[in-house]
Amino acid sequence: MAYANLSKAELQKVFDELSAEYKGYQAKNLSLNMARGKPSAKQLELALGVLEALKARSEFANSNGDDCRNYGLWDGLPEMKRIFADMVGVPASQVILGNNSSLMMMFEVISRGFSHGYNGCTPWCKLDKKKFLCPVPGYDRHFAVTEYYGFELINIPMYATGPDMDLIEKLVKDDDSIKGIWCVPKYSNPTGVTYSDETVRRFAALKPAAKDFKIMWDNAYCVHDLTDTPDTLLNIYDLCVENGTEDQIFIFASTSKISFPGAGVAGLATSDNNIRDFKEHTLTSTIGPDKLNQLRHVLFLHDINGVRALMKGHRAILEPKFRLCELMLEENVGDLGVAEWNKPNGGYFISVDVLDGCAKRVVQLCKEAGVILTDAGATFPYGKDPHDSNIRLAPSFPPLEELEQAMEVFCCSIKLAAAEKLLN
Ligand code: PLP
Repeated sequence: MAYANLSKAELQKVFDELSAEYKGYQAKNLSLNMARGKPSAKQLELALGVLEALKARSEFANSNGDDCRNYGLWDGLPEMKRIFADMVGVPASQVILGNNSSLMMMFEVISRGFSHGYNGCTPWCKLDKKKFLCPVPGYDRHFAVTEYYGFELINIPMYATGPDMDLIEKLVKDDDSIKGIWCVPKYSNPTGVTYSDETVRRFAALKPAAKDFKIMWDNAYCVHDLTDTPDTLLNIYDLCVENGTEDQIFIFASTSKISFPGAGVAGLATSDNNIRDFKEHTLTSTIGPDKLNQLRHVLFLHDINGVRALMKGHRAILEPKFRLCELMLEENVGDLGVAEWNKPNGGYFISVDVLDGCAKRVVQLCKEAGVILTDAGATFPYGKDPHDSNIRLAPSFPPLEELEQAMEVFCCSIKLAAAEKLLN
């Protein structure tokens, strides 16, 4: 029965039972972590072949004969560009490969706008007012980049179809101080939402007042399916070209959650104008990326089919963890009216909404029972969830047995926090 329908006495009884259960967890001295979306050790083993790939090779040239041990090819190996292009659905000619982090490339894109500006517009550092749109809940590190550069961050609600497009269109139409938006269009972090066809079309057709408006299209989870019925995402690059808006789009991805986080290959895809600006920016700071890492990824992955085969291995490890979390939520809090959550077809997160005002309390209760979750509020700009209700679960890292224990504590904490709130 939903907690909201219980009498005070019934609720007090529930609270007392939950408190006893919770004390039992505390006595176990657990030390479990569901905080960050990291692949597990088992997943990392799937890509050990990357490390073997170069040992087996006496020459270090790619198919064009470029010696990957040396300087050159500032924008990356053509073979790796092909793989990246096929992952995100863009022509390889529009791809620039970087080093080990797509987040760093996003940082550099914003940095370039800040210091030099885009499309002949005033550099953002010279503006009194500058704003960035942030679909919420979203990825804390995105928000941190634009906070670092002094943007005012504006929350945009996320729906099952993606961000609130009516609001976005309305806001950007007249306000040229809005310089861009963060998007994770497939298996969004943390809601798991994939933007609908209509949402993607509306993004491609967006007509902002700011001529230097940039859509930061972070397709981090483009090949990270976890079911036989994966989501599909419309190709925004093609649509932008049709609309003549390709200067508005920067598409990012990396192999961080395909091979090794922190030691994969990152890239971006964008228009010729943006590539020109980004080239100037990049070539001022580096002579070129780590091509040996790109080469060993090419030798290991071969092509997009290699990527897809590897991702099936990731799915085999990840899918049971997601199903376990969903099952335990369903069984423990399903009909109590104290939490709602998504059931994503891919990606790395489950987003749980608890009763308003309870997220911080749930995270605190979990912590005091030895289970570390992502901080409440982290999925919002400035770390402030206006409803204090969203919690991001990252089930990938702990082994299944640990995940089960952590979820027991989590479910108990959701109920305890809800009972506490309703009693007071
Ligand atoms: N983008 C999103 C949406 C992420 O969730 C993450 C990592 O969790 C990253 C980017 C980081 O990517 P990279 O390792 O390529 O910097």
